[in-house]
Amino acid sequence: FAPWDDPNAKPLIQFQNVTKRFGDFTAIDDLTVDIFEREFFALLGPSGCGKTTMMRMLAGFETPTEGTILLSGQNIAPVPPNQRAVNMMFQSYALFPHLSVWDNIAFGLKRDRMPKDEMAARVEEMLRLTRLEKFARRKPHQISGGQRQRVALARSLAKAPKLLLLDEPLGALDKKLRQETQFELMDIQESTGTTFVIVTHDQEEAMTVASRVAVMDHGKIVQVATPDAIYEAPNSTYVADFIGDVNLLNGTVAAEGDKLHLSWAEGQPDIVGSSSKTFSKDQSAFFAIRPEKINITAQKPDGAANALKGKVLDIAYLGNISTYHVELKGGQVIKAQTANNRRISRRSFTWEDTVWLSWTDTAGVFLER
Ligand code: ATP
Repeated sequence: FAPWDDPNAKPLIQFQNVTKRFGDFTAIDDLTVDIFEREFFALLGPSGCGKTTMMRMLAGFETPTEGTILLSGQNIAPVPPNQRAVNMMFQSYALFPHLSVWDNIAFGLKRDRMPKDEMAARVEEMLRLTRLEKFARRKPHQISGGQRQRVALARSLAKAPKLLLLDEPLGALDKKLRQETQFELMDIQESTGTTFVIVTHDQEEAMTVASRVAVMDHGKIVQVATPDAIYEAPNSTYVADFIGDVNLLNGTVAAEGDKLHLSWAEGQPDIVGSSSKTFSKDQSAFFAIRPEKINITAQKPDGAANALKGKVLDIAYLGNISTYHVELKGGQVIKAQTANNRRISRRSFTWEDTVWLSWTDTAGVFLER
């Protein structure tokens, strides 16, 4: 499933040079992106970067100041919110407290004057989809938070929208329930074939559920790619830093060619690696490497493309993994992570241990900024 790689695939949603201003503040800045049918598309970015504004324009609560949004090839600007094949599920769920689960799900269908039989069948189908059959007669206060979340989802899907917008849909749930619910959400998205656009603060959540993740910064999408591409090949230090943990080493390009050499700290060997991007000599550049891509050993490893000597400063033991902060001679601190998958000892190294950090020449990425 990769319609974004198919030049013939028709996008469900197209943002074409969309700008949204509030007074003289630009919330969305000349943004262009395509979202495809059946995608689970995640908008990720710091508070205030414009995620909700994008959703509100799709739902019809805001109109672009400039540019066009197309839904199935049609400009949606003239279409009022209630006539768009778009629904929005809010973090607060906005369930009617005095109505049963069944009536909450039926609410929009009733309003549309759907025939009774058809409506009942549809509500039953939604109850099955969200595994709420047993709770149909209960009121929202008589069910759990996770169940309320599913009622809200069932209600938003009842009218079979083409597009469902989810604003922090799992924000009210505790971590464990949240993780379980992510898989449910993916199952439901897949079985209904509805296109989902989700806003979340939680990068792990975005990585888990999304077909593609759009990372936003100040009203722009700075990178849009599959979760693994975003993680393995971020296009800037901003994205690398926003998604997951990363070491960012700044330096100047010392030698180009087959292997890039980055001179980055006095007294330390150059960082050597391959790069798909071209850099010129003496150019400033960053090397980004994830902690888990760094090996940590007591002895200098033979034949490693990169090996740095340091001293263990801090250790964070997290059960499945341990993170080591290793200080190099010049004072630079590098984070390395090990998987605790061998049951020999809890910790292989301790504070003040002298260790070697090493990685291969394809373990990290070189970035311009
Ligand atoms: P959060 O993660 O905190 O919800 P967000 O990325 O969803 O943030 P938006 O709600 O889209 O951000 O807001 C983007 C920017 O636009 C913010 O700086 C916000 O203050 C501003 N903004 C949004 N709505 C309005 C409005 N109606 N009038 C003025 N400014 C607004």
